[in-house]
Amino acid sequence: MTLKKRRQSLILGAGMTGLAAGIASGLPVFEGTNAPGGICASYYIRPGEKERLPNSPEDHEAYRFENGGGHWIFGGEPIILNFINSQTPIKRHIRRSAVYFQDRDLYVPYPIQNHLRFLGPEIAAKALGEMAQQPGGSTMKEWQKESFGATLCELFFFPFHELYTAGLYDRIAPQDGYKSPVDLKLAIRGALDASPPVGYNASFVYPEEDLNLLAQRMARRCQVNYNMPVKHIDAHEKEILFADGTLLPYDQILCTLPLNSTITLSDLRLEPDANPHTSVLVLNIGAVRGEKCPSHHWLYNTKTRPGFHRVGFYSNVDASFLPLSARKDDTRVSIYVEKAYEAGEKPTGKNINQYAAAVVKELQDWEYIGDVEVIDPTWIEVAYTWNWPRSVWTNHAMEALENYGIYQVGRYARWSFQGIADSIRDGFFAGASFCV
Ligand SMILES: Cc1cc2nc3c(=O)[nH]c(=O)nc-3n(C[C@H](O)[C@H](O)[C@H](O)COP(=O)(O)OP(=O)(O)OC[C@H]3O[C@@H](n4cnc5c(N)ncnc54)[C@H](O)[C@@H]3O)c2cc1C
Repeated sequence: MTLKKRRQSLILGAGMTGLAAGIASGLPVFEGTNAPGGICASYYIRPGEKERLPNSPEDHEAYRFENGGGHWIFGGEPIILNFINSQTPIKRHIRRSAVYFQDRDLYVPYPIQNHLRFLGPEIAAKALGEMAQQPGGSTMKEWQKESFGATLCELFFFPFHELYTAGLYDRIAPQDGYKSPVDLKLAIRGALDASPPVGYNASFVYPEEDLNLLAQRMARRCQVNYNMPVKHIDAHEKEILFADGTLLPYDQILCTLPLNSTITLSDLRLEPDANPHTSVLVLNIGAVRGEKCPSHHWLYNTKTRPGFHRVGFYSNVDASFLPLSARKDDTRVSIYVEKAYEAGEKPTGKNINQYAAAVVKELQDWEYIGDVEVIDPTWIEVAYTWNWPRSVWTNHAMEALENYGIYQVGRYARWSFQGIADSIRDGFFAGASFCV
């Protein structure tokens, strides 16, 4: 590829953040893969086949999946939701999620602390006596113990977080307390009767057609250079080397790559130790719907044999995730299953096949699925970002990059938890600040 050798500002990554920044700034976007949308991108696979198709085939006889599992658009400022709706009309859904205790075949609606009556009067009374409203603790595990008490922690919070954080929860700082709020009044209400939905995703929106369309339509409004993975950033010389050998001098970079990757690509050395992340293996499955397949959007799991922590049901949100001929009669289901790994523990192809077989067996034992028509894994290297207690690494890393004109923006770039709508907002904000 021939690029002008004058210094220019540019954007790295064409996920939701980079696309929003590209629209707002008019700057060129450089993307490592051949498609926009990053972790939110969707793809199609015909029953019985393996090939991923970027778009629905003409006869629509294919399952639709997303790279990172179900991406339901939660939260978001009205003006951003209005933008999303203007690109691809959205529909609002009321969350149906629960904790599933497979040993008792029991579904307790999420959040568990507000639905104690499902656990019986004895556990409910014990749990209520143990909950605290102003919890402290320097690790996530301590915070949970103080918030929810020993009974609920032993039953759900500890075994779930053991899987979800790949064992890190007794060492990392507490975060995202708002995801599972402690409100004693609601907990008491839910111990006796129905309680209102709470939390950051009590309702969510999703495009009426396909999340991919949002990324594709945003991409049409900016200049994206695909198949341009960054190999090295020479922060001192202000030059980017791409995998195809293109060397591009830059003025400033708006970077949406994960913070640890940007630091590594730039050869910057930092003290103290980097904050940790966990990777996620997403297994997308299209199958015959089993007799006991629930109608939930997703379930939180504890102590599963293959070690997954969440099972989601794309087609329970929208039947358009199924092949056309299966949309009316409810005979098929499309599912995503998430398992977390500590950084550096990437499974081999053989491990993934063994894991996939174990997941299918577990879901068949639960009678969620019958015969499998499609099974397809995606590895997300930086999925969840965490912090060591009192760590200053994240701020130091971003400051070090800013000294060389590299500005990190978006969820993974800033090492924080956020959803699609907030990633788009931050992309617009950063892009507008770079407007040429
Ligand atoms: C398991 C999981 C589930 C989630 N579920 C939801 C949900 O239900 N709802 C919700 O709102 N949000 C959800 N999120 C969050 C959501 O995915 C993010 O907020 C959003 O996708 C962030 O977009 P981004 O553009 O910042 O990052 P990304 O989508 O990761 O985009 C970064 C882009 O950079 C590219 N790139 C990476 N390295 C290079 C390189 N070296 N050179 C060039 N390009 C490179 C990548 O290919 C990618 O396109 C979830 C996240 C995870 C991990």
